[in-house]
Order: sequence, then C-alpha cells, then structure tokens
Amino acid sequence: MLTSIFLSIIANVSILSTASYIFVKLIPRKKNYTLTVKQHLLMIGVSSLTSFLLMLFSVDLPKGAIIDLRHIVLVLLVYYAGPTVAFPTAIFISALRLLLGVNPASLRTAMMYVVLGLILPLVCKKLVKQVNNKYTILLILNVICVATIALNSYFLYDNFLVYILIYSSFLVLSSLVVILTTVFIEDLLKNLALYLNEKEHAKMDFLTGLYNMRAFNKKWQRIQADKTIETTALMMIDIDYFKSINDNHGHENGNFILRQLATSLKIGAPDNELVYRVGGEEFCLILNDLPYVAQKEVAENIRSSVADKEFVLENGTSIQITISIGLAASTKNKDMKKLFRLADRCLYMAKNQGRNKVIGEIMENE
Ligand code: GH3
Ligand code: MG
Ligand code: MG
Repeated sequence: MLTSIFLSIIANVSILSTASYIFVKLIPRKKNYTLTVKQHLLMIGVSSLTSFLLMLFSVDLPKGAIIDLRHIVLVLLVYYAGPTVAFPTAIFISALRLLLGVNPASLRTAMMYVVLGLILPLVCKKLVKQVNNKYTILLILNVICVATIALNSYFLYDNFLVYILIYSSFLVLSSLVVILTTVFIEDLLKNLALYLNEKEHAKMDFLTGLYNMRAFNKKWQRIQADKTIETTALMMIDIDYFKSINDNHGHENGNFILRQLATSLKIGAPDNELVYRVGGEEFCLILNDLPYVAQKEVAENIRSSVADKEFVLENGTSIQITISIGLAASTKNKDMKKLFRLADRCLYMAKNQGRNKVIGEIMENE
C-alpha cells in the first residue's frame, strides 16, 4: 500500500514537472506577446492531458474516491496563464474524471472542479493585488483546493482521525510539490527572459540605441514577404564630412553627435521602429505605403531639421552638421536589393551635388 502511494507520488511529480517544461516551451519567444487562439487551445490540450495522466496515477480511496495532484495543474494555470486557459481546463478535468467512472464521488469531483475553475481566478486576481510573493499566492490557492477536495470527501470517512491524517498529509505534500514546480517554472521563465533580452540586444546598436544592420536585414525580409505592405521606400542617410568632425573635435565627440543624430532621426521618422544604423555614420530608414510626395517630404524634413539643429559637444559648445539623403522608392514591387542599390546611387549623387541634399528616384523597369 505504502509503496503504491509512494510510486503514485513520484509519477505525479514527474508528470507535473514535464508538463511545466512543455508549458514554458509553449510560451511565444517574444516580448509582450498575446496568446493566439491556437496557442490557447494547445495549452488547454496539454493541461487536460496532464490532468488525465495524473488521474491515472492517483491513489484510490474508499467509496470510489481518488486522490492526486490534478488540482496543482489548475493552480499553476490560474496564476501563470489566466482564466481563459484555466477555466476550459477545469471543464476538461471534470469531463475526464467522469470518463474514469460515473459514481457519486466522481460526479461531486467533476462539479467541484467547475466551481474551482470559476472561483480560483477571482481569488488569484485579488491576491495578486495584495500579496507580493508568488509562492505565497500559489500556496494559498493550493490550500483552497485541498480544503475543497477534503470537504468534498468528508462523507466518505467514518473515522475522523484517518480523514484528518489523510488530508493534512495531502496538504503538506501538495504544498511541497507546488513550491517545487514553481521553482522549476520560475527558473525556466528566468532563462526565457534572459534569452529574450539577449535576442533584443543582438538587434540593437550599442552606441545609438537604434536597430542595427542585422535587424535591418531581418525586417527587410519580413517586409518583402508581407503582402499587406504594397510599396516600400528606402532612405539612406550619411553625415557630411564626418571624418573632419572626428578630426577636429575627437572621436568621443563624434560618438556623441551620432547619438544626438539618432534621436533626431527617430523623431523625424513616421515609425521610429524603422530607423537603423547600418554603418559607422550611415543610417537607413524604411517607409512603408507612403506616396512618393510624402516620402520626399519626410526626407526633406529630416534633412532640414538636422541642418537647423544645434549639436552639442562634450565641452558644452555647439556645432552644426548636415546630412545627405538618397531616397529610393518603389510603386509596385518591393525588390529590396534593387532599392538598396538605387538609394546608394541617389546618396552618391547628393554628395556629388554639394551635400546637405535629398535626391530621390522612383525605381524604373517596374
Ligand atoms: P562624406 O561627406 O563624403 O560622407 O564624408 P565623410 O567624412 O563623412 O565620409 P567618410 O566615409 O570619408 O568618413 C566616415 C567617417 O566616419 C570615418 C570614420 O572615422 C567615422 N566613423 C565611422 N564610425 C564611427 C563611429 O562609430 N564613431 C565615430 N566617432 N566616428 C565614426
Ligand atoms: Mg559614409
Ligand atoms: Mg559621411
């Protein structure tokens, strides 16, 4: 008897840990995500399957009652995934319990999980506002579940002492498992956050805080594949005589100016996500679905705002700089390679025509 209880506990803990791992893997690998319908269904499916497996390794009690760690799935879901995943899973847990046999005990348990699926999210919402520690919140939710399960089984026991002994052991054991799985999940989530942070850093230019060439290439591929974006223009921006700024004021001041220019470009761009530092003192800006006249206007505004701006040096004095812009526009297709070459040619012309200029062209042969 004791061996079988011990094996059931080991099986329950292993299933819960594996499910937690799968669950964290199901979280989209990006920041500020919202779950899609498909991801919701997948999570509900995994949770329901986990509950079913836990039930298969349950400990049998008198009068058809069973005891297992199914409720921990619900507790974790309520806290980590929210009611839209937790409540449907509670319904599934109820239905699956009835699959194992319809008797008064299973009917009561099925009802109990529906009630818990409704109540736990509300309690959790309140607790999150009042309690800072997630372990405390999860443990309180576990106590509520164990108390409900114990209440549900009260009529099954003639001996009150045995009843108290069984459910106090159950409370201690399930609390330990809640702590264990939470430590496990938190560790996985910490690694996920680290990964996302590194991924974000890999896209950024360290000096200016703009996106870098690598991010530019990725964005470029995405825009080409995106059928909702019809036209794209590319603006190549290069600082005029930047070498002499470095020579006259020092490399550090050069860097300082690059940072100030990055801020101006972000302000001037219609979508500041689409400004990239693609070289030492070269920047790119992507303009999606704008008419050519508006593209020229954006470029001209950026050029003039830079020319009018006072750039500050580290010693507090200010200098003025200018930029040249090559603008390549497409009216139909989005051949980025051609656009890039055209923008480069336009920039070269702007430099040749005296700098501090915007030269734009619409792509031919379309
Ligand atoms: P042009 O008007 O023809 O563009 O002249 P330019 O001097 O700006 O062009 P050039 O390509 O000859 O020089 C670019 C300079 O940019 C060379 C390099 O010293 C400087 N540079 C490149 N990256 C950085 C950087 O990260 N920080 C600083 N301070 N300077 C940089
Ligand atoms: Mg250059
Ligand atoms: Mg330059």
